[in-house]
Amino acid sequence: MKNYDHKKIEKKWQGVWEKSKIYEAKTGGKGKPFYGLIEFPYPSGAGLHVGHIRSNTAMDIITRKRRMEGYNVLYPIGWDAFGLPTENYAIKMGIEPAKVTKTNTDIFRKQLKSVGFGFDWSREINTTDPAYVKWTQWIFLQMFKKGLAYKHKTEINWCPSCKIGLANEEVVGGLCDRCGGPTGKKEKEQWMLAITKYADRLDKDLDDVNYLEKIKIQQRNWIGKSEGALVKFPVKNSDTSIEVFTTRVDTIFSGTFLVVAPEHNFIQLNKKNILNFNEIEKYLKEVKNKPDIERTAEDNKTGVELKGVKAINPANQQEIPVWVSDFVLGSYGTGAVFADAHDKRDFDMAKKYNIPLAVSIRPKDDILFEKVKKLEECFEDEGVLFNSGEFDGLSSKDARSKITEWLASRKLASKTIKYKLRDWVFSRQRYWGEPMIMVNLRLLQFQNG
Ligand SMILES: [Zn+2]
Repeated sequence: MKNYDHKKIEKKWQGVWEKSKIYEAKTGGKGKPFYGLIEFPYPSGAGLHVGHIRSNTAMDIITRKRRMEGYNVLYPIGWDAFGLPTENYAIKMGIEPAKVTKTNTDIFRKQLKSVGFGFDWSREINTTDPAYVKWTQWIFLQMFKKGLAYKHKTEINWCPSCKIGLANEEVVGGLCDRCGGPTGKKEKEQWMLAITKYADRLDKDLDDVNYLEKIKIQQRNWIGKSEGALVKFPVKNSDTSIEVFTTRVDTIFSGTFLVVAPEHNFIQLNKKNILNFNEIEKYLKEVKNKPDIERTAEDNKTGVELKGVKAINPANQQEIPVWVSDFVLGSYGTGAVFADAHDKRDFDMAKKYNIPLAVSIRPKDDILFEKVKKLEECFEDEGVLFNSGEFDGLSSKDARSKITEWLASRKLASKTIKYKLRDWVFSRQRYWGEPMIMVNLRLLQFQNG
């Protein structure tokens, strides 16, 4: 054969495969079972893209090899078809989303078949199919029964004109991706899935899977396990304290101020003690609708001191000011941090607002140490402690456990582990989304007398 006529030859064989059902898994068939699974595509109007072909081809190769080795292979396909793009497109064009989905999946199916993937089309599923939805509901119920699906009031992005919750990706520069209007935040009761209950296992079990090292690192960063200490900073002239989470308790002797998140309840609880509460309220209003990604951006360091309130550094008994700044997120750690000269952002913020700084970690390099002492440079790495009382001379690592023990013996600290991973907000009150109908039976009985 001089030229390979792919149009003719592939079409012929794809027909033969379909007729002879060679890619269908045999229920109870012979051969060891092998299950190959890809992420089911989202059928957008644009059709397949190269990314689909790339990732599906890898699994296609594996399943083909397994079939040749005599395995009974199940390589299923389906459509993860609920979602915002379809809903938005349907609104724009005035078509039922179910019809949009049908048109799109027809195109995807034709394209996937023409590539020649070995999917078992007899088991094709569509997550928007009522016959399938009952399984989504079933699995949700199982999670509910085990306490893994729960209702929680949480702040979400909200578009007042569309009257819907928005994902972070749908808020572009503070504007709604659907209508272009300004978005805000709104407290709403949401269904959450408690993935954080598995945080430790997800992290540990990465040791057991055959992933590329860089993928494991990405996964671990996403889970964001950090070992640290919860430290109590007593509030002056009160019997309360502000609890902070830190992974660098070795720097505590240089902690010269506390920073709480705008959402931290300390602010509202101490309203009457804060002399500049009007100014604070103005700041809270300003930052209320800022997305987290802007809040945690490297160059963001705005803040206001809570005047009239002082905390006590439990390591050296120094009175230190308390600030509010939106770079501290209410959802991470305890929503409060102690700030010092060994963290770049704290350092920059202190310089900007003339907050006193102190140093307590000595770098190896003497020239650098001179600059660090003069507060000309921020030293964030580990080093050797000084200005730290009985802990002088210890390495950062040793000091962390020693200082935690020391503070714990005075009931001012405890060892703890935190994760970046958050529970997943499951429901966003979509029209084109999984219908999760939960009825409060007790309430229903009450209403029915
Ligand atoms: Zn909108």
